[in-house]
Amino acid sequence: MTSATKKVTNKPDASEYVTNTVPQPRRTVLAMPEYHPPLAGRNALRLDFNENTIAPSPKVIERLRQITAEDLTKYPEREAVECTAAAYFGLQADQVLLTNGVDEAIHLVCAAFLEEDDEAIICTPTFFMYEVSSRMMTSHLIRVQADATLEFPYQRFLAAITPQTKLIIVASPNNPTGAVVSREHLLAICAAAPQAVVLVDEAYYHFFGETLFADVGKVPNLLVARTFSKAYGLANLRIGLLAGSADLMAYVRKVSSPYNVNGVALDCLPVALADEEYVAWYAEQVNSGRARMMDGLRAMGVDFFPSHANFVLMKIGAKHAELVAAMRVRGVLLRDRSTDPGCDGFVRITIGVEDHVTRGLAALKESLQEIGWAK
Ligand code: PMP
Repeated sequence: MTSATKKVTNKPDASEYVTNTVPQPRRTVLAMPEYHPPLAGRNALRLDFNENTIAPSPKVIERLRQITAEDLTKYPEREAVECTAAAYFGLQADQVLLTNGVDEAIHLVCAAFLEEDDEAIICTPTFFMYEVSSRMMTSHLIRVQADATLEFPYQRFLAAITPQTKLIIVASPNNPTGAVVSREHLLAICAAAPQAVVLVDEAYYHFFGETLFADVGKVPNLLVARTFSKAYGLANLRIGLLAGSADLMAYVRKVSSPYNVNGVALDCLPVALADEEYVAWYAEQVNSGRARMMDGLRAMGVDFFPSHANFVLMKIGAKHAELVAAMRVRGVLLRDRSTDPGCDGFVRITIGVEDHVTRGLAALKESLQEIGWAK
């Protein structure tokens, strides 16, 4: 159509908008890594993702059965459950945000606080989502590598703090190492970087027992995250909790969407929190199972890192992939951590309830023999 014959219309002609280019994301999005957890085909004993291996509290199941069809038609109301959770943990409602798992809490903290020029600091190896979410905002991620002990590299971590440091994330207990950081050291990190937000991830709190919840609100730059995916057995409902001073939490709340946590999870949370007996039982299963797993590994001659979480990281060596494959044949899933920094040849096993630990140990013994493993 020539311009002379073109009909005058307000509607744009689509052909004028066809180009060969697609819109580009921010530079940091192009550069950020992606996390693809190997979740396919998990119809086996799940000793690979550090979940609860059996079930949540039976009271949660009862509550789920009471959910009506009409309940599903409603937008979720987070606030009332946030108040319940805050009161349960001895916090104020404005110090708490419920999130779509701790994964979302990490994402929101990065979105709220990190500018492109800011530095974030993590230790490695650690939970990979810290890297994904922080690099979504800034390319200045400082990784402080643990030495061969895989203990938290406290002195070098402190030395990595600069005036540009805006976010520090520390998991205690850490994943995949199981190492912990003392409250004294965590508070010293907060004090050494008053311009930075310090996120302490207590996802594995129940298998360790030390927390910084009592410091929330008193230490102005401290945030603490808890998940309900592990001891509480609610990984599939996606619910986590972030706590911090009301000032910091107001910014995180601002970047969260109002319906980030679904109503089924919100209905179940108060029931899960109230059934303390169940969580204490599960934590005890894990703590005794972990001792049994470590004894069993010693007896088999497998070296491992002492763990304060619901998993143990084993040093297998060159046959790491063979072991994971042999275990899968026996219906037991493990997680190969060989590509984590400093973890070549290392394989992680989740600790579950008594029978699952027994099955895991028996399968390990057979598999190590079958692949002809030797230290
Ligand atoms: N933090 C750590 C240290 C983890 O290991 C995990 C899960 N593997 C998470 C957070 C994620 O928790 P959620 O299921 O609540 O997103």
